Amino acid sequence: MAFRIPRLSSPLRSASLNLSGRTPRYTSAGPPTSPLLYNTLKRSISTSKTAPASVASSNTVTGDNNRASPPPSTEFTYGAYMKVGGPNAKPVHRIRIPKFESLEAERAHRKLHHAAALRWLGYQGYNNEGAGGHVTVRDPIMPDHFWINPHGKSFSHMRPEDLCLVSKDGEVKEGGNMHSINPAGYIIHSAVHEARPDVVAAVHCHSVPSKAFSAIGCQLEPINQDACRFYNDHGVYSGFGGIVFKEDEGKHIAQALGGTKGVILQNHGHLTVAKTVDGAAFLFGAMDRCIQAQLLADAACAGRGSTTIKVGHEEAEYTRNTYNDEMVYIMFQSAFEDVVKASNGELPMHVQGEIPRA
Ligand SMILES: [Zn+2]
Repeated sequence: MAFRIPRLSSPLRSASLNLSGRTPRYTSAGPPTSPLLYNTLKRSISTSKTAPASVASSNTVTGDNNRASPPPSTEFTYGAYMKVGGPNAKPVHRIRIPKFESLEAERAHRKLHHAAALRWLGYQGYNNEGAGGHVTVRDPIMPDHFWINPHGKSFSHMRPEDLCLVSKDGEVKEGGNMHSINPAGYIIHSAVHEARPDVVAAVHCHSVPSKAFSAIGCQLEPINQDACRFYNDHGVYSGFGGIVFKEDEGKHIAQALGGTKGVILQNHGHLTVAKTVDGAAFLFGAMDRCIQAQLLADAACAGRGSTTIKVGHEEAEYTRNTYNDEMVYIMFQSAFEDVVKASNGELPMHVQGEIPRA
């Protein structure tokens, strides 16, 4: 049976939520840190976790992602972390999502970071099924086209010029690498890109932890700070319909994803999305590590005859909301740097026409 987290409207009720049956960590409606810090950050972050009302489906388990609310915005949410050091502190360099002189420069940036994300996934062992696993990035000039890794090619050596440009009908187009693509990858990712205009990138591979976890049919639970990133913000697709060679299966996966940042595909693996490929790759690895932690914690608790202690509802939502578009981009930049430096000059750190954001 799927794990479901009850929705609470009252701060007092949410503060007293106790999923574990143990004494809750916070017993008042107060935030888990200083009121000033909490309120400042709360104002600076987007709290809209939304999904089109149409995402509800009888063969999906979508957690809390089928609320009737506006669709996700296509605008970036910036400013994930706050200034410290007082009002007179000198400005410091910050990593931020860049701006671009032109759409061509933005395309070059997306392709560079797409190739780097694939290399990172390869280094992490996510290319473990040979020709399985796919990463797609929407084209900024033709938004109904996306870039995808060529079928059967190593993630770990990917270059921007190796990526294939695909139309919404699945045709590999000139301008990109004229190489075959994974048909399942096209079916899944085209459905996701069509259902989620706000999504720029989607990552899907079959990790070993997600193969185990997806057989249980439950959601990630807020058992640690990092797992809160996905609190009430991912779905579970419970209707595995065989290897994804049928169009309907892609649509069902997109429905189960709803307006959230990721979906666990039962008996299959997991998939994450974001407004940058950096963010989608970060969330893919983050979700996988949360899956591993939950498997470990649940196994240890089973041996001890106990259950895991969950973070409270309000603290979990507060933590989740810090992971906005810019934050998930930032979280991947150390991995991007590792990949660029390991490429021995094959991949640059920046593209022409990239403008740092102050
Ligand atoms: Zn798959």
